[in-house]
Amino acid sequence: MENKKDDFSEWYNEIIDLAKLSDKRYAIKGMNIWLPYGLKIIHLIDDLTRKYSDEKNFNEVSFPVLISREQLEVEFEHVKGFENEIYWVTRGGRDKLDIDLALRPTSESAMYTMFPLWIRSHSDLPFKIYQIVNVYRYETKHTRSFIRVREIHFYEAHTAHINYEDAENQMREHLKIWEELSNDLCIDYSLNTRPDWDKFPGAVYSVAFDTPMPGYRSLQVGTVHEYGKNFAKNYDIKYLDENGNLNYVNQTTFGLSERLLAAVIGIHGDDRGLILPYKIAPVQVIIVPIPGENYDKIVNYSSDIINKLSEMNIRCDIDKRDFTPGYKFNDWEMKGVPLRFEIGNKELSDKSITLALRTQKKKIKIKYENLNDVYNYLNAVNNDIRNSSKKFFDDNLIFIDSLDKINEDKMVKLYWCGSRECSDRIESISEKAVLGNVYGDNSSGKCMICGREGKLSVFSRTY
Ligand SMILES: [Zn+2]
Repeated sequence: MENKKDDFSEWYNEIIDLAKLSDKRYAIKGMNIWLPYGLKIIHLIDDLTRKYSDEKNFNEVSFPVLISREQLEVEFEHVKGFENEIYWVTRGGRDKLDIDLALRPTSESAMYTMFPLWIRSHSDLPFKIYQIVNVYRYETKHTRSFIRVREIHFYEAHTAHINYEDAENQMREHLKIWEELSNDLCIDYSLNTRPDWDKFPGAVYSVAFDTPMPGYRSLQVGTVHEYGKNFAKNYDIKYLDENGNLNYVNQTTFGLSERLLAAVIGIHGDDRGLILPYKIAPVQVIIVPIPGENYDKIVNYSSDIINKLSEMNIRCDIDKRDFTPGYKFNDWEMKGVPLRFEIGNKELSDKSITLALRTQKKKIKIKYENLNDVYNYLNAVNNDIRNSSKKFFDDNLIFIDSLDKINEDKMVKLYWCGSRECSDRIESISEKAVLGNVYGDNSSGKCMICGREGKLSVFSRTY
């Protein structure tokens, strides 16, 4: 297997193949097949996203995949932002369609033609929906599994509010959901307000979650957008207030994709394979019975343990395949399973379990009656993941105060005046693009290029 440090790109592709997450040999480039193990992981991520959204009173919907040209062209800025990326359906059978249909690149224009039918009065607000669907973008850049694909596994939340202040509160609630989810995935991130020329087409402003990845590039893993009344005015989304006046709603959105899985693979994995936080591990505990004397009894004892773990709602399995234990250990390590139980004759005779944590070299022996401790060990693995992920983040997002450090192979924080000239200058020297001002930071300092007053900002090469 490739060494992660020496060649991250090769390592990344190889791990996706070996752990059987997806198959990119499909006839259409950039449209990959989700293999069973990869699909189970992304569904577990979806389950968490659903849980946190539902807890905050979002309702799940499912919109059609096709959007008519008329619907799409209502908001000029928006359609302009996507015009190079849209797949068009122009025929139905042998007939040329009267109006071209787009495969949704995102669903604003699909949803907002329906919002005026659903939102009538202030009592309909706040209005909060989301969907988890595939969206389509004609990527012309080099595609890469889970990072840059043409069929995207997409979470999109859309909200409407009485006023701008409520919409701003909603932005903070989106960030709260993100905080909970990223904590489960053990991903650290930097919140950056994108410069105006890089915000979502049609938005007032956009905040992105950027995380440093191996390979000296950052990955945008999610975004939230404040729309103000921009879309409401174009799609005529109004509500009747308490005084009987018609007002436009204020809107926000929140988007995530399978890039979350890319971040989990890239940040946590090592030269032995994936490392999965237990909340998204399809198998949390794998039991490997060790062949030899009393094998039947060892298997029975293992089944007994499986039953007990299942009662504790732990996802577990027993590997009875006809391979050597060493092969099985490697295979489950490749798949990132947090805990492995090794059960042999010794464990059978003293009613114990030998336990291996994916993140540690040493093995631990526990008593069968202490099986309830298994959650402590799952948490121990998560703590290890979190610590190394935090260390990686701190090492790879650094503050710099002089231009001669700009070429460090890291994401950098520096003071920038906000002008395009200065960010272009930084990009031409270092290939690092501006990701935006650090969200919520109020400090100020001299722009590294022109010396004018600037805000703390992040620059990086990006995936
Ligand atoms: Zn400047």
